[in-house]
Amino acid sequence: MKTINIQKLVRKNISELRPHISFRDNNTFENPFLMDANESPFGEFNRYPDSTHKNLREKISAFKNISANQIAIGNGSDELIDLIIKIFCEPKKDSVLVMNPSFAMYGFYAAINENKVLQLNLNDDFEIVKEDFLENIKENQPKILFLCSPNNPTGNSIEDIEFYIQNFDGIVVVDEAYIEFSEQKSSLELINEYPNLIVLQTFSKAWGLAGARVGIAYSSLEITNLIYTVKSPFNVNVLSQNLVLEKLDQIEDFKSNLNKILKERDWLRNQFLDVACISKVFPTDANFFLIEFKHAEKVYSTLIENEILTSKRFPQIPDCIRLNVGNRNENETLINALKSI
Ligand SMILES: *Cc1c(COP(=O)(O)O)cnc(C)c1O
Repeated sequence: MKTINIQKLVRKNISELRPHISFRDNNTFENPFLMDANESPFGEFNRYPDSTHKNLREKISAFKNISANQIAIGNGSDELIDLIIKIFCEPKKDSVLVMNPSFAMYGFYAAINENKVLQLNLNDDFEIVKEDFLENIKENQPKILFLCSPNNPTGNSIEDIEFYIQNFDGIVVVDEAYIEFSEQKSSLELINEYPNLIVLQTFSKAWGLAGARVGIAYSSLEITNLIYTVKSPFNVNVLSQNLVLEKLDQIEDFKSNLNKILKERDWLRNQFLDVACISKVFPTDANFFLIEFKHAEKVYSTLIENEILTSKRFPQIPDCIRLNVGNRNENETLINALKSI
């Protein structure tokens, strides 16, 4: 196990904070009268949500075989990204290191917090160049390293990810928003080896619950405690907590939908072979494709004329568009529109 002093990495004002815990969420009474929070005694949703997400964390704990106190729940993983930056990065002083291209939200929240964003440019296979990485961390001493695997928007998994975790003495965040679609191993099993590692997963993609806004951080107990110290007390609403609890009882549905998406992904990949305007389909471990087109601008606007919205990745990734796997009707319509170009 790596020895690293997490407290030394925490912003001073944060390490002096104590968690905001209401007595209500920590008592052992069966059915106490609730006259402590100025709620209405009437209505179906009159009570504040559990600020500790106790039931949800225990359910996820059993599902993933990870201790419940190493699980933190956020209002989407977006909130967790924001909180992690707030916990560890001193505004105007600390920097974060991100892969380029990768998910834009790391830079977005760092910028709001006035932290510098350092870019690690990926090579032509969208892999990190190890020498660049070692040089960058030595020179700039970033506080947080954001790895995304499978990476958005490129679709590939990062090779030899433990190398980067091993060699970084700040906080390492591995964002696994698309891990369910991938055959690669999750970094989850590394959290007990590296106390500075945070693995992010989400109910927004494979679980089909983007509208519920529920994300998960797996980490050392020390980091989980910090997240529960700084988060807004009622960050995940009652409806969303209950909905996820329900979905975790319907694993067969989840698996069946996941399999359908994976089948559609194969179907699309095959269809792309017959589309003339495509010049390259990048390999993907996620539920989307990054595709290079002969005339990306024209393709993008033609798809819009057909009321098909895709994600414009050019000019940052030359001639590339990202699009996700839909249902068969959506996928067929897409292929027909592309063939008409
Ligand atoms: C979609 C996505 C997320 C999910 O964010 P939520 O806030 O949980 O919806 C996180 N990271 C990456 C890389 C994503 O693409």
